[in-house]
Amino acid sequence: MTEAHTLQARPCGSVALVGAGPGNPDLLTLKAVRAIRRATVLLVDDLVGDGVLRYARRSARIIHVGKRGGCKSTPQAFIQKLMLTEALRGERVVRLKGGDPMIFGRGGEEADELRVHGIEVEIINGITAGLAAATALGVGLTHRDHAHGVIFVTGHARADGSPLHWPTLAACAAQGLTLVVYMGVASVEALQAGLLRALGAGTPAAVLQNASLTTQRHAVCNLGSLAATVSAEGLESPAIIIVGDVLCGLAQLAERAPSHRVA
Ligand code: SAH
Repeated sequence: MTEAHTLQARPCGSVALVGAGPGNPDLLTLKAVRAIRRATVLLVDDLVGDGVLRYARRSARIIHVGKRGGCKSTPQAFIQKLMLTEALRGERVVRLKGGDPMIFGRGGEEADELRVHGIEVEIINGITAGLAAATALGVGLTHRDHAHGVIFVTGHARADGSPLHWPTLAACAAQGLTLVVYMGVASVEALQAGLLRALGAGTPAAVLQNASLTTQRHAVCNLGSLAATVSAEGLESPAIIIVGDVLCGLAQLAERAPSHRVA
C-alpha cells in the first residue's frame, strides 16, 4: 500500500492556528488554553513564552520551529508539510504563534494551504504585540483626542524586496493615524528619516521591548531622537515602535521625570 493510501485510511486530524499572545501566559485566551491542552502535536514559533507550554499535555510532541538557540529558523515549506502530514495522520495539531496568528504571522497563507488539502483549520486569536505594547505604556492607540485610526505596519521590506514608503505612512500619521511598527528596530534609521519627511521631529514616539514579560522595558522620546534613543538604550527585538500624538501625555511625563524615559 502506498503512503497516501495508508494516510487516507486513518481518521483525519485537525490544525488550530493559535495566538499565544505577547509572551506572558496570563494573556492567553481560554480558547487557546483549551486547544493547547487538546493538542497531540505542537509546532511552536519563536516568541512563544515557555510559560504557555505548561498547558500542553505531557504526551504531546512539542516541535520548536523558530530560531531559538541561535539555530536557523525552520523553512516555511517544511513547517507547512509537517502540519499537513501530522494532521493527515490523525493528530490534533496546534501551530502556536506569538501574538495573533493572522498579524504578521503567516497564518493566512498556512490556513489557505491546509484548506486546499481538505484539512479543517481553526484560527484562535491572540493579543497582538502592538496592542500589548500600547497597553503596557498605558496608551490608547485610538484616543479620540489624537487619532481616528491606527496602522499596523512591518518595518521589513515588502515581499517583492521594495522598501517601505515611510513618507506615505508619515502623511497618514499626520492625518491622525497612529503608527504601530512591528520588526522596526533593525531599520529604525530609515524609518526615522522617512517619517521625518512628513512629520515634525517633535512627534512623540515610544519603543517597547518584550511586552508583557518580566524583561519588558521601554523608552519614550520623539521622532527626531528615535534612532539615537534605540541605540543609546540598547533596545532590541522583539520590540514595537509607536509613533503619534496618542503618546503626548506619556511624552510630557517623560520630559518632567526623565527617570520615566526607560523602564
Ligand atoms: N504575530 C505577532 C507578530 C509576529 S512578527 C503578533 O501578532 O504580535 C514579530 C514581531 O512582533 C517582533 O519583531 C516585534 O516587533 C513584535 N513582537 C512580538 N512579541 C513582542 C513582544 N513581546 N514585545 C514587543 N514586540 C513583540
